[in-house]
Amino acid sequence: MTALAELTTTEVESSPPTLAIVPTGSTEQHGPALPLGTDTIVASHFAALGASHEGVVHTPPVPVGVSPHHRHFAGSLWVGEETFKDYVEEVVRSLAAHGIERVILVNGHGGNVNALARVGRRLRGDSVAYAVNWNWWKAVEAELDARFETAGGHACHGETSMLLAIDPELVDEDRLDAAETGAPPGWGKQVHGAEVGFDTIDFTPTGAVGEPTAANAAIGQELHDLAAEALDDLIEWMLNRSTEELYRHAEPLHPSE
Ligand SMILES: [Zn+2]
Repeated sequence: MTALAELTTTEVESSPPTLAIVPTGSTEQHGPALPLGTDTIVASHFAALGASHEGVVHTPPVPVGVSPHHRHFAGSLWVGEETFKDYVEEVVRSLAAHGIERVILVNGHGGNVNALARVGRRLRGDSVAYAVNWNWWKAVEAELDARFETAGGHACHGETSMLLAIDPELVDEDRLDAAETGAPPGWGKQVHGAEVGFDTIDFTPTGAVGEPTAANAAIGQELHDLAAEALDDLIEWMLNRSTEELYRHAEPLHPSE
């Protein structure tokens, strides 16, 4: 588990990493049972696991994400999408300036996904870095669907199970009932085909969705191990390709994209 922040500049110069993992999370409400830092904690955990590969390091996490839609809940912090995109892009550009052009943005927060996709597209278009976004819930989407009745999507059965596997002391199990009371089965709110869930408060009074009381440590461990395996495979996939191969067809349609 090589943390870039624990290496010296001399060490990085003499043995430059081939791939860096940048964890991105949030500091936002996760209902009454999970801590505000859930997304950052989960992303940092997977980033550290991935950095056990030879030649792979993880950077410190980006702890505040695109979370203005959680602003009605106490303790939530946020930055806008442009600020977040620029910040992450510049972090990756600084890695690339030291020759680290393969980057995995291990992300814990759904609200960051659009910005991270833009970062990846832009940097590949410029042939500066090949930075892909990896989300644990996407990596185990089929397993989540198979094991739970409702979709969930935030502070739900899936996320609670994952945190129970990573650090059970952070889950206040006595409050899972309160989290579920009045929570909708999934994320957002649609009316006649229109998305009207602009803010989280528009569709959940507790901040959670899905069935937090269905969370289970054993399922969480299973999901955790499957996600870790997928991340391992992604790391190998990227390490086994030359940058020429990764940048193929990279020229942007328009230089500003
Ligand atoms: Zn979360």
